[in-house]
Amino acid sequence: MARDRYRYGKLARRRSVRGAGRRLDPMASKRHVTVGGVQIGGGAPVAVQTMTKTETANLAATMEQIRTVAEAGADIVRVAVPREKDVEALKTIVVESPIPVIADIHFNHTLALKSIDAGAHCIRLNPGNIGGPEKVAEVADKARAAGTPMRIGVNSGSLPKHLHALERENPVEALVTAGVEFVALMERLDFTDFKVSIKSTNVPNTIAANRLLSEKIDHPLHLGITEAGTKWSGSLKSAVGLGTLLADGIGDTIRISLSTFHAEEEVKVAWEILKALKLREKGPVLIACPTCGRLQFDMDTVVADIERRLQAYEDPVEVAVLGCAVNGIGEASHADFGITGAKNEGLIFSRGKALKKVPQERLVDELFAEIDKYAQTKRIDVDAAEQAAGAQWLERIEEENAGELTPERLAKLEAESARADADAMDEVLNPRLDEADSPTEGRRFTRA
Ligand code: SF4
Repeated sequence: MARDRYRYGKLARRRSVRGAGRRLDPMASKRHVTVGGVQIGGGAPVAVQTMTKTETANLAATMEQIRTVAEAGADIVRVAVPREKDVEALKTIVVESPIPVIADIHFNHTLALKSIDAGAHCIRLNPGNIGGPEKVAEVADKARAAGTPMRIGVNSGSLPKHLHALERENPVEALVTAGVEFVALMERLDFTDFKVSIKSTNVPNTIAANRLLSEKIDHPLHLGITEAGTKWSGSLKSAVGLGTLLADGIGDTIRISLSTFHAEEEVKVAWEILKALKLREKGPVLIACPTCGRLQFDMDTVVADIERRLQAYEDPVEVAVLGCAVNGIGEASHADFGITGAKNEGLIFSRGKALKKVPQERLVDELFAEIDKYAQTKRIDVDAAEQAAGAQWLERIEEENAGELTPERLAKLEAESARADADAMDEVLNPRLDEADSPTEGRRFTRA
């Protein structure tokens, strides 16, 4: 929703990706466009967009879907405008929509002109299929006069004819060439208020093409994988393709294309990608152990229940679910709240410390009681006696299972062993550094 956008937009004003001890420099597009109040590019938070699946002319259905996607966190929504009756509906949609609306136009420049008149906050078109440069010029003139930005772009399936041979030989270069040619055309038309997209169904090609394009132009980039697929496979393909680019600092707005009528699912996936990269914050983050043979409760049901209940919260709290207490709180110690359990009892913990011990069957409800308290007061209240009892319980479980080789302990051992190997290698590569007296002898090799 717009409210979230501004709230979290301020938090994430500077683009960055933080990883283990490193920070990638932001490389968002230098230029920006503003779509109905939402800035895209120029260092703004990556905007989430989706597209309605309804017939746009069906006003009631379209508005219902727009409200649903806005509620799910879409910053912008796109609607298809293939007929005159869709333009008629668009006039009302742009007024009633809680988020800016992009009109999606193909083949018919008249519909683009009419959509600008209807008040669309942005026009999406492919300059290669709209009937020639004169018609693109007509749309550009009208958009400039109205202050309406555009998204121009091309998909792998709709490249201009003169690039078909190149596409067969080098699809990445063909896509980038099309993008660069369209940018040149718009600039010749003295129209610069646009963002660009070049998309493919092929993930490696989408990544390579956008990397190359981002080096050639400084306009904002819209990212997407065309016809990504079903909710499951499409989400994964999008996470890999778009996530790779976003982690490189490339991309200013994203749309996840999924074969589902429920456009809000696309929005949820987009947010998960942005949250995973720490590019934006919205709502709680749930982390859960992968489970193993030490599992002490019905994790599948519990995690699904927690995930469902967390959807009602706006605070970006991190909630952890650990299937057993054998390792203690371990890698979930940074979580704002978490639960872990043994046979009959469980523990609620917070930011690395026990909060209280509760009977197993009340674990989830007590967890949400704590989250509710936090949502209201923004404080985590600790009862010293309950905390001590919880800590004691955890200590006992850890002691009883000290010899267990859990996945977490194995990972820790592996990390320690890798560090030891690296130190030993360092000794071999850099012997007697202190005694070295020539630049050559003294050169220190650095491990990659
Ligand atoms: S040992 Fe680790 S992975 Fe296995 S159930 Fe316990 S917390 Fe989960």
